[in-house]
Amino acid sequence: MIQPEADPWGFDEEPVETLADVLQAQVPDLALLAAFLVLAFISFRRKSVPLKYATLVAAVAYMGFTKSTLISITDVFRLVDWDLPVFRSSLLWYGFAGVTLVSTVLWGRFYCGRVCAFGALTQLMDAVLPATWRVEVPKPLEARAAWIKFGVLAGVLAYYVATHNLLVYQYVEPFWMFTLVGTTPMWVGLGVLLVASAFVRNLYCRFLCPLGAALGVLSNLTVFRIRRWSECSTCRICQKACEWGAIQGPKILVTECVRCDDCERLYADQQKCPHWRILDYQAKKKVLPLTPVR
Ligand code: SF4
Ligand code: SF4
Repeated sequence: MIQPEADPWGFDEEPVETLADVLQAQVPDLALLAAFLVLAFISFRRKSVPLKYATLVAAVAYMGFTKSTLISITDVFRLVDWDLPVFRSSLLWYGFAGVTLVSTVLWGRFYCGRVCAFGALTQLMDAVLPATWRVEVPKPLEARAAWIKFGVLAGVLAYYVATHNLLVYQYVEPFWMFTLVGTTPMWVGLGVLLVASAFVRNLYCRFLCPLGAALGVLSNLTVFRIRRWSECSTCRICQKACEWGAIQGPKILVTECVRCDDCERLYADQQKCPHWRILDYQAKKKVLPLTPVR
């Protein structure tokens, strides 16, 4: 005998996804993002070199190759169009973009210094490749080349506003590499960029990245800036130590600084930073016994 179908007219309701279901599905990703960001902030607050490198490795492995979660110029396009994703199903995007914006206003390009997977990759390359390979870009050339990224940002934004062609991002950003999906010319271009980065440290971030340029512009609002001593106008130790060309005499260029901590560790070093030696010298001078007058 043929059994009648349970619901021949299709009157049974489809199960409706509740808000709790939507949120629950995002909890693991949100928890892991929060754990990564906590690591990044602790490494930043403590100015710890091992924790910074742990953060960079996590940025490449987890944020890059596992999740491909990076802020991109396409997120700037979204803001231009005010075409934001649905809040309840995109908590990760809102959380990540929110932290990036707020941290940039508070500390400058913190995102570039340790959160962005591509920036982390080139910093790790710089740490493992022989220092003898490095080519130091002459300072006047470096200062001019730093403007290229602002030109790229202006050009790509103008192109997007005129055409609304989102795919333009792949010509100005290599972040697609973390998805391992790209055309042959894209991989060849990426190969050239990475080989060049082996000789010129952080080449893409310093000179070409339109997102880095956008964050640099926003960094002009930085609330908590790096402290400088009065001696910094003549001493050039930290200027030479900065791998990002972000120190010019007494000035820190907030558009270039990625809060890598290198100069701040130097300021705190009472053996290396002349500020402390001068203080020490002045203190000793004050307690020196006066030469008795005969
Ligand atoms: S400059 Fe661009 S690639 Fe470099 S760390 Fe910043 S966002 Fe990433
Ligand atoms: S060395 Fe100092 S000025 Fe240079 S990028 Fe690092 S934190 Fe910024």
